[in-house]
Amino acid sequence: MKIVRFFRTLLGLILLAGFVYLSYHSYQASPKLLEPANWTRRGEVQETAAPQQPEPAVTPEPQAEATPEPSAEPTPTPEPTVDPDSPAGRAAALGLPAPPDIDINSWEFVLANEYNPIGEDYAPQGPSVLEGQPLDERIIEPMRAMVADTRAQNLSVFLSSGYRSYSDQLANFNRKVAQYPPDGKDSAGRWIVLPPGTSEHQTGLACDITDVYYELKDRSLAETAMYKYMSQHCQDFGFIVRYPADKEEVTGVMYEPWHFRYVGEEVAKYIMENGICLEEFVSLYREIGTAEHPLEP
Ligand SMILES: [Zn+2]
Repeated sequence: MKIVRFFRTLLGLILLAGFVYLSYHSYQASPKLLEPANWTRRGEVQETAAPQQPEPAVTPEPQAEATPEPSAEPTPTPEPTVDPDSPAGRAAALGLPAPPDIDINSWEFVLANEYNPIGEDYAPQGPSVLEGQPLDERIIEPMRAMVADTRAQNLSVFLSSGYRSYSDQLANFNRKVAQYPPDGKDSAGRWIVLPPGTSEHQTGLACDITDVYYELKDRSLAETAMYKYMSQHCQDFGFIVRYPADKEEVTGVMYEPWHFRYVGEEVAKYIMENGICLEEFVSLYREIGTAEHPLEP
């Protein structure tokens, strides 16, 4: 019985030692064994969740990209667009090239007509006299050069009428009113002589030019070689044909192939090359008086 009890005790001790040994090793190994299992499991969970999370994250991205796109589109659009309220913008609306960069209130661009009167006090600088005609002294040299160039073509030039004062115009006007009562207008309703303060001759910047041998001031003057040459070259000296045949409705004055006006070389070339009149040119820069809204002098 003692031997059986001894072996039973020994077996118990061996089992206990074995249990202790196994327990110790399994305790040491457990973190190493559990950790990879947990990592794999987390990764699996993240992998399945990962494609779900990026999907909503990807969809807002193109929305965020799409929002700056339209905001970037209007930025380049205004760059080439010209301000419609600028001279270049108004010219573009009429199919005209950009007009010269000038001060429209400078003396060369004074506008005198029925709806843009210049008043009783306006008078030219000087004036100086060229071939019997008083003119603003600042246009004497350009006029002399234009006349000399035309004569160099064996054409005859006659300076017929330059500066006319307000009081001279008033006397002319009153004479015509007496001749053509009650208002001095012709059968078409046009002034035969412009009322004082509305004639361009008062500026001293214009001159009637005819042929020495053909002084008749009517549209037949346009057939003379002198006019044909001068109307093609006047802009090179700063002059324009002030009352063209196709602008009678705009200028309010009938075709006058004898009336030349100084505006300076750059503007004369723009007006003549684009086939416009002074009223249309000045309108690119500022508001002008019209029949509906006449300006005060
Ligand atoms: Zn005239």
